[in-house]
Amino acid sequence: MYSLPISARRAGIALMAVLLSLASIPNARAASETPTLRLYALDCGRAVFTDMSMFSDADDYDGQPGQLADPCFLIRHPRGTLLWDTGLGDKIAAHPEGVDFNGIRFYVDVTLERQLKMLGLSPADIQFVAFSHFHVDHVGNANLFTRSTWIINRAELNAALAPVPPSGVDKSLISGYEHVETKLLDGDYDVFGDGTVRILNMPGHTPGHQALMLKLAKEGIVILSGDLYHTLDNRRLRRVPRINAQRADTLASMDRFEHLVTNNRARVIVQHSPEDFRWLPKFPRYLE
Ligand SMILES: [Zn+2]
Repeated sequence: MYSLPISARRAGIALMAVLLSLASIPNARAASETPTLRLYALDCGRAVFTDMSMFSDADDYDGQPGQLADPCFLIRHPRGTLLWDTGLGDKIAAHPEGVDFNGIRFYVDVTLERQLKMLGLSPADIQFVAFSHFHVDHVGNANLFTRSTWIINRAELNAALAPVPPSGVDKSLISGYEHVETKLLDGDYDVFGDGTVRILNMPGHTPGHQALMLKLAKEGIVILSGDLYHTLDNRRLRRVPRINAQRADTLASMDRFEHLVTNNRARVIVQHSPEDFRWLPKFPRYLE
């Protein structure tokens, strides 16, 4: 019987071992393409307000119009992929004139699915989905991610499941949590176990509100605010939105957040700030 030279057989065995090891790693394709941590900012909608008064409990914005960005963030790590917030729902893109939500106008100019496709990804390729909180502008596309593990803050989930859900929460948008794998959090969480992607417990806006801290090789430490702050002014002036669940918790979270920023010389991204969204590399470019 013809037999391969030993070197060729060894090469064949080595190739099989590589193929088997790739098969056992979820998102092996995505992982192999990202040797370092990357942060992508995706356009997941925008909100237009005739009256921004909800963003201060001291009448700072009464009667003032305004606009907020609504990005989602894709984090590609050598060990997998995390989507941080899912924005307004892709369904809104069918209404170029926007849709009304309690007097706020929501627009989606490009769908999340289309943007993921630009990276060769589908929702099934996203290993983890996590949320700053459960307001409708952060969970709009959650139910697309039926094959991901949802990383959920327990207090946030309990509040959303109350017989009367808090204002700004639509339970139907997160109904998928019952059918997916979940990881429930009671505090901070190191997503990939190496300290580069950390979910930070920052309650106040909602009972289980969270921020996200990233350790990027070139850019340094970047913290995504969630809705701890909605605008650059709110951060600078420590304004507390009147829609927040807890004023005292909000101020305590702001204290912790600003200490982390100082101690790590971190760059802050106020997620809803149109200025910060414009500063970020335009998708599919990324920070690393
Ligand atoms: Zn929001």
